[in-house]
Amino acid sequence: MSDTFNALVVDNVDGTYSAFFKDLSVPDLPDESVLVDVSYSTLNYKDGLAVTGKGKIVRKFPMVCGIDLAGTVVDSNDDRYSAGDKVLVNGWGLSETHWGGYAQKQRVNADFITKVPEPFSLQDTMAIGTAGYTSMLCVLALEDAGITPDQGDIVVTGAAGGVGSVAIALLAKLGYRVVASSGRASESDYLMGLGAAEVIGRDVLDRDARPMEKGRWAGGVDSVGSKTLATMLAETKEEGAVAACGLAGGTDLPTTVMPFILRGVKLLGVNSVTCLSARRDQAWARLAQDLDMEKLNAMTTVEPMSNVPTLAEDILKGQVRGRIVIDVNA
Ligand code: NDP
Repeated sequence: MSDTFNALVVDNVDGTYSAFFKDLSVPDLPDESVLVDVSYSTLNYKDGLAVTGKGKIVRKFPMVCGIDLAGTVVDSNDDRYSAGDKVLVNGWGLSETHWGGYAQKQRVNADFITKVPEPFSLQDTMAIGTAGYTSMLCVLALEDAGITPDQGDIVVTGAAGGVGSVAIALLAKLGYRVVASSGRASESDYLMGLGAAEVIGRDVLDRDARPMEKGRWAGGVDSVGSKTLATMLAETKEEGAVAACGLAGGTDLPTTVMPFILRGVKLLGVNSVTCLSARRDQAWARLAQDLDMEKLNAMTTVEPMSNVPTLAEDILKGQVRGRIVIDVNA
């Protein structure tokens, strides 16, 4: 067996940002406690930003990208893990300040690790990945805010993307009536197949809204931000709530306080990266319970790591559907 293995690295030398495949060996890896044979990583919007350099994601160079990984422990200096354990990591600064999952082996901080929950395979966990686990965090946030299926429609934006697709499948299984907002009319059948009851165009929400409009939503899951999120807030009914996790449409939020102070609307921020382990475990347990595996398979494509540079461009253009698993050994 070769001593070297393949990794996707980005570097920034004299202001020139580049992504390239490189042979690494175990001594090149960071000095962390758990060595993992990586089977799969994933492609998230943030990976697109990191690999292309179009977003300021990477804070330390050179960096092995990939915000997620799943694999088998080879060696561990931490009592919680031993050789053979099936493990995953979502976020925690992978591809930002810590080397990530686009590598056939990686050493990771034991505190970042989640044991692969039953009944998932390694590949299933990466079909879910950060995007899907974030969808579950959004659903938990809505539940904690008291939003129940009998209160009315839940709108999901960026619907055909990763967060959106998993959120639709989860909410539909939990009995919510889901309205999917997508810029891709061609994906309507796909979205209805995941459980959306209705599909609306992106432009319905991506517009200049008045401070408050007719209450239409009991709640929402937003991965877009900007005017879209502002319109969702303006259209949320009394005591409704919107879980906001994304910025695919922009980082601004041109809203007013009116929905908050006149309707008691709640804006629930969701951050998956440094989310505490207990909440992560809760989210993964709920994914095991509430995610329809047939729907997960229907939204997932497996791609070799060699395709990541091209896919990174595609996801930033909004051209990726559902979830992409990256097979780092293909
Ligand atoms: P995807 O690219 O898979 O999904 C984003 C979707 O948003 C696209 O598929 C598209 O859906 C829509 N979209 C794309 N561009 C625009 C645009 N300019 N205006 C409006 N809508 C647009 O990404 P992910 O699902 O991986 O991530 C979604 C967002 O959530 C990202 O911003 C990401 O950074 C964020 N995120 C945040 C996390 C957190 O911890 N807070 C964790 C995970 C993700 P359609 O064609 O259907 O309209």
